[in-house]
Amino acid sequence: MNKLVLIAVGLSMACNSSQKTVPEKKEDTTTQTVQKTYAASITADELKEHLYVYASDDFEGRETGTNGAKKAVAYIKDQYVTLDIPAAQGNSDYFQKVPLLTNEMPSGAIEINGISHELGEDVLAFDAVKGHFDSIVYAGYGIEDENYSDFTDLDIKGKLVLVKFGEPVNADGTYKISGTRNKSKWSKVSDAYGERSRAIQEHGGLGMLYYDDENFSRYQSYYKRIKQGSSGKLSLKKSNDPIFMNVVLNKKAAAELYPGILNGTATEFLGTDLNLNLTSNGSVIESENVVAYIKGSTKPDEYVVISSHLDHIGITDKGEINNGADDDGSGTVALLEIAEAFKQAAEAGYGPNRSVVFLHVTGEEKGLFGSEYYTDIDPIFPLKKTVANLNIDMIGRIDPKREGDRNYLYLIGSDKLSTDLHNLSEQVNRKYMNIELDYTYNDPHDPNRFYYRSDHYNFAKNNIPIIFYFNGTHDDYHRPTDTPDKINYDLLENRTRLIFYTAWEIANRNSKISVDKVSK
Ligand SMILES: [Zn+2]
Repeated sequence: MNKLVLIAVGLSMACNSSQKTVPEKKEDTTTQTVQKTYAASITADELKEHLYVYASDDFEGRETGTNGAKKAVAYIKDQYVTLDIPAAQGNSDYFQKVPLLTNEMPSGAIEINGISHELGEDVLAFDAVKGHFDSIVYAGYGIEDENYSDFTDLDIKGKLVLVKFGEPVNADGTYKISGTRNKSKWSKVSDAYGERSRAIQEHGGLGMLYYDDENFSRYQSYYKRIKQGSSGKLSLKKSNDPIFMNVVLNKKAAAELYPGILNGTATEFLGTDLNLNLTSNGSVIESENVVAYIKGSTKPDEYVVISSHLDHIGITDKGEINNGADDDGSGTVALLEIAEAFKQAAEAGYGPNRSVVFLHVTGEEKGLFGSEYYTDIDPIFPLKKTVANLNIDMIGRIDPKREGDRNYLYLIGSDKLSTDLHNLSEQVNRKYMNIELDYTYNDPHDPNRFYYRSDHYNFAKNNIPIIFYFNGTHDDYHRPTDTPDKINYDLLENRTRLIFYTAWEIANRNSKISVDKVSK
């Protein structure tokens, strides 16, 4: 589970567990017996055996880019070799290389109309860029909203764009965007920078020069903190992306660049002179997803992806190992056991109709990078043919809020894109497991925003129906105390079997999961 940076607290959580269900049809009991036979191969003992190795100190907290992560991927690969389940890419290598960049703040200078500024004082930059720019477009507030745009009739393609903080006001003192006395997100410091940067990128701009004197000190302390600290921040290396640059200016620098921006006489074209000479010591880290699959018998070119993340957060500054038994050792060993169950069934002649993909992703804790790489850069199997993603992230513990009422599991996202998937999931549970499926965190207003915080999100944003299986957080979350002795193996077994049954149904039923809603 990925840590949320800005956490809103204090909002109460609404419960929407009153989902409509469809009556069950009678099903051939022999088919049910088959599923039960192979679900029975998923046992608490085997889950425990795997997890005591996978979440042991020997794996050093499995932080992406470290030796511990290498041990993790080697362990997972060995299991698939032993199970005789082939690699997704068809060769002997189960690894999908996911190159990541260490994010180091650039240093150097920006020269504005002949005056040089070292980064950190009056100007800040977050990307290493070199170059000379003499054609800069001024786009006012840089706002692109439903009823207001600063980009109408403005060609910013391939140009640097100068914008300023704030938003336009009507003669009566109300704000143009809201039509009321309330400011919009364009004046909120948490959104103001990112939203403008995104708008400029969408209009084809080369970079943003952002004048914000009011909040400049906040950007400055962020820049300094990242620059000094070994922040461990990584980003996904997208090889062909042109670097979009973001530069923040205070009043002094903005005045040198273009005095008109201060007194309101700015027009749209600025002939000015800007030299950027910024360098960064960022380096590439090798990292890998591990991907295996069982080919479908009758619909081999339709895919069900089951995923969990193989990485965790490594070793603390004090040298304590974060074992990540629940996060996401539990999902990892569950996935291995599900793979084994499908394999045993296939060997006995009950192979899945659709192909089943076992996707262990890297870099989740750093920003969902392994799954993003899979969906956005190199989907081994076409996303258009991917019928669903079941993502498992933390299913071995009990939320303190559910203590004493332990036979539950939080499901998130099951109805977001597909009513069909939600109904299937409910039916399968009633038929085989009778776990209480708790939809507390499925509420779109839930302040934890769990829907956006694990790997399924990268599938959902591509309109692929997903279910995220999750036990909730607890006191040991992202702490060295998340150890294998605290896992409830009986619950882990039940939950893993539920996911197996659900995957089985998706892979084997006649019609594929239908999508009736749009990704938001
Ligand atoms: Zn986590």
